[in-house]
Amino acid sequence: MWLTKTSKLVVVGMGLATWLFIGSAGIGQAGQSQIVIAYPPVSNLYMQQRQLWMQNRLLEDLSEALVPIKWPRQLTLMAVECGFLANGQPNANAFYNPQQHSITLCYEFADYLFQMFSQQTQLPQNQQGLLFSGALMFTILHEAGHAVIGEFNIPAIGREEDAADQFATIAFVADPNGAQLLMGPLWWFQLSSQQSKNFLGFDTRDAIRLYSDEHGVDEQRFYNISCLLYGSNPSAHQDVIASGMLTPERAPRCASEYQKIRRSWELLLTQKGS
Ligand SMILES: [Zn+2]
Repeated sequence: MWLTKTSKLVVVGMGLATWLFIGSAGIGQAGQSQIVIAYPPVSNLYMQQRQLWMQNRLLEDLSEALVPIKWPRQLTLMAVECGFLANGQPNANAFYNPQQHSITLCYEFADYLFQMFSQQTQLPQNQQGLLFSGALMFTILHEAGHAVIGEFNIPAIGREEDAADQFATIAFVADPNGAQLLMGPLWWFQLSSQQSKNFLGFDTRDAIRLYSDEHGVDEQRFYNISCLLYGSNPSAHQDVIASGMLTPERAPRCASEYQKIRRSWELLLTQKGS
């Protein structure tokens, strides 16, 4: 994977720190990190990749985003070879495991993102790399959202997948690199939506798979993230509307949507962190 050979990931390490230290929530603490990094052994297939990730401290960089949280117990961030699904496809996944108190990033998932963005040959390589970094970082912060809900036993009203996307997006926009890196997940959901032929063109099997999934469909995740980005600072993000990433109908409510979601997280986190 070219990124880890030649350059470091661009991370949004400051996002949660800025949000949780300077915001009203009090669970951030500059103390000993509770994050444990693990690179368990892999088969020959991922031997080289594991070596590169370890040399380049990829998980260590990604974990910067998790460190500001005063986790109630150790939380492990690990890179794992997740194998194949029953249908023969690689298990391209990332997930939080509440029993193990861990977040797993599958090598197959990084491959999936890498392949998707490296096919965007109309973009310069550094732009592809930024999108990749953003999407990977978003994935870690999305899983961190699940982990916060799980580890702090925080109630999530409504779809937890939406809550996790919101948590990640708010952490992104609090970071100086965040708005730029948020293009990563936005491109990801757009490209993924195109792969599943979007809601106008997919066949019935796709429809069942997409609508029965615990996640919102890609288009919804795309517009929800765009709305929070715009709502975090409407005057600075007029381009979100101009470029069609957000409809004029949704836009007027995004600032209050952002404020409300951010306050909800802060309220819950403050209660749990004190
Ligand atoms: Zn999730």
